[in-house]
Amino acid sequence: MPNKHQNASKISRRNFVKFGGAVIAGSTLNIPPLKNAHLSQEETEAKIKEYRVLGRTGFKVSDISMGTTRMREANVVRYAYDSGINYFDTAESYGNGNSEKMIGEALQFMDRKKVFITTKLHFEENATKEELLERFTKCQERLKTDYVDALYIHSASTVKILNHTGFHDAVKELKAAGRLKHTGVSNHGPRGDGESMEKVLCAAAEDGRFDLMLLSYNFMNKEEAEKVLAACKKNNVGTTAMKTSPGMLAVSPLDPDNLTKDQQEYLDRIMKRGTSKEKAMARLKRRVNRQLASYENSKTFVEKHGIKTQDQLRKTSIHWVASNPDMHTTCVSFSSFDMIDMIVPVSGVKLSAADQQFLEDYKLVFNAQYCRHGCNNCVSSCPHQLPVSTIMRYAYYYEMQGNEKLAMEKYLKLRDKNASLCFDCSAPCTASCPHNLDIPVQLTQAHSLLTLV
Ligand code: SF4
Ligand code: SF4
Repeated sequence: MPNKHQNASKISRRNFVKFGGAVIAGSTLNIPPLKNAHLSQEETEAKIKEYRVLGRTGFKVSDISMGTTRMREANVVRYAYDSGINYFDTAESYGNGNSEKMIGEALQFMDRKKVFITTKLHFEENATKEELLERFTKCQERLKTDYVDALYIHSASTVKILNHTGFHDAVKELKAAGRLKHTGVSNHGPRGDGESMEKVLCAAAEDGRFDLMLLSYNFMNKEEAEKVLAACKKNNVGTTAMKTSPGMLAVSPLDPDNLTKDQQEYLDRIMKRGTSKEKAMARLKRRVNRQLASYENSKTFVEKHGIKTQDQLRKTSIHWVASNPDMHTTCVSFSSFDMIDMIVPVSGVKLSAADQQFLEDYKLVFNAQYCRHGCNNCVSSCPHQLPVSTIMRYAYYYEMQGNEKLAMEKYLKLRDKNASLCFDCSAPCTASCPHNLDIPVQLTQAHSLLTLV
């Protein structure tokens, strides 16, 4: 496919100043307005400093890569490329193909050989080779590329799906036609009654047919992922990290005249069962106090480290992941130029002792607030088999990734198997959480977040 603009002007903040709102000749890209013009040159020149060999693909990949679940415009992809990022992750399902379209648009301004483009297909057991080929063809059309570097099985939740004949037959055909180079498997924990990330991805690494793994990994959730990394290292499989920062739900104090959505919902549900408003309010108060008490330690933490924003945690968490050489690239869902400027400077830089200490303290303080991605320890003790970590992951999409629509759509798909069941439950699940999470509190908060009244 022709690459029209390999020598075109690079996308940078300075270009935005120069072109301000105009349209680049020969392209359909509307140049967005200048953001953060106050930044110094040093701050604006975020550049990738380290590239690592992506397992047996042999491709030298930037240690920070770009995920596109939150992407809203192709120029952000171009900006990432100009900062040295050369691995772009998308999926058929991201924005119903829009993410692929934006990468395709940006790709026309890149040197195709210098970038690694991955996409993903999610499918069930009954998918046929023909269906997968047809879907891949559409992905490729949106990406506007002659070949895709890697096709992942999206969110593979069982070992069985790794042997899907239709998928492997389709891959064989695509590789023979030069339309696909590699395959991979992504997993961020079980869906429904699926198997653990460790089980699925270790099996995939040993399988021999998959060259790449995309897995959840952060400083609070590392044991399982590090077993997967060891299996990948042994088999020379390329590794990409996602969900690199733990997400937390905020707790609001109780103001009886100004209840939050989840507090009001909790109150309504109790009163619907015939409890008086006074008693229901007293119960709500006890619940909120319990939540606040568990967050009390965080004050010391915030003061000690001078925390001002969630971004501070996000940046240091990503830095921690990128510091592990066995994780070849750390995929960050970039949604803005500012975020690229904030994160890319960690590339190739050693994590400082102060940052290590920050993460250690954080772990201690928030241990009982973070539901681990990929964990399913408590599912069997829930009479409804609620997918606890999946629901909390959707809350993470909402809170940490700002992806409200996606989060709510996914939550809706759980139908009646959702966290509304936790409002009236004695919570037998709680005893099975090794991290002592207050599961009903966390899930009912997530439910309120992810549903419309
Ligand atoms: S609180 Fe009850 S319904 Fe909710 S996850 Fe725990 S056991 Fe299941
Ligand atoms: S609540 Fe605890 S046991 Fe349940 S999925 Fe989350 S971390 Fe695992």
